[in-house]
Amino acid sequence: MTGLGSKLRVLAIANQKGGVGKTTTAINLGTALAAIGERVIVIDLDPQGNASTGLGVPPEMRARTSYDAVRGSVSLLEAAAPTAIPGLFVVPANSDLVGLEADLSGDPSRAYKLRDAVAALVAQSQSRPADEAFKYVLIDCPPSLNILTLNALAAADAVLVPVQCEFFALEGISQLKDTIDQIRASLNPSLEIQGVVLTMHDARTTLSREVADEVRAFFGPKVYQSVIPRNTRVAEAPSHGKPILLYDYDCAGSQAYIRLATEIIERERQTKAA
Ligand code: ADP
Ligand code: MG
Repeated sequence: MTGLGSKLRVLAIANQKGGVGKTTTAINLGTALAAIGERVIVIDLDPQGNASTGLGVPPEMRARTSYDAVRGSVSLLEAAAPTAIPGLFVVPANSDLVGLEADLSGDPSRAYKLRDAVAALVAQSQSRPADEAFKYVLIDCPPSLNILTLNALAAADAVLVPVQCEFFALEGISQLKDTIDQIRASLNPSLEIQGVVLTMHDARTTLSREVADEVRAFFGPKVYQSVIPRNTRVAEAPSHGKPILLYDYDCAGSQAYIRLATEIIERERQTKAA
């Protein structure tokens, strides 16, 4: 990686387990990074479109989508819709994505479609004035290892793995680590793990503490110090089409995502310096 401060970083938020906090993290980490002053694009790559809804882009406003961008009929910048947060954009998703696997079958470069679109975005972003250049792309992956997730992992510089503090957490994790190793050996040799974020943590339960300890034993310093607490405000916010920072800035969930954003920025700084 070059020492260029303006280099865009692409983080895929992935875990093939559903309901672990991928979408919640895409929405709220994106918001927190933008609140700190970074320019961010969230790419919603889940046909459910929950990240789009949670960032205030309802289905009827999704004129251009991540499907169009992956197919190459529009650029990511053309598909990016503004949100209520300055500096935060979302490339929305709709159910067209369900058909992508079939649409691309037989195309030898089918896993690299998003990488090509991101490469064009990097070029466009770097030719902009510094204060208009994008710093982060966050990709919200669907809960399976399908062609969408492969596209995300092929396009990403690094993976951010949310892990829910519950009993079966570790089961999915070793599987995901194998997947990342396979992706490194095939589609994307330079793919890194940016970090592992513990989500829905309940400090009052022994189970949450035990899972957190086990995940830290498995991933070591890759696990962020910032832990996202289970917080009802976080779960309520999407139904208002708002990220948690706009819905309830002072709640524990908002503050946790701000700490996580700060930690990620610091980790990126160290990666660049190394
Ligand atoms: P995924 O994208 O991995 O499937 P989601 O982000 O959609 O997971 O989260 C699954 C469910 O858990 C959602 O209903 C969401 O609102 C809820 N949730 C996520 N994070 C939290 C949290 N920190 N506190 C409470 N509920 C949460
Ligand atoms: Mg999701």
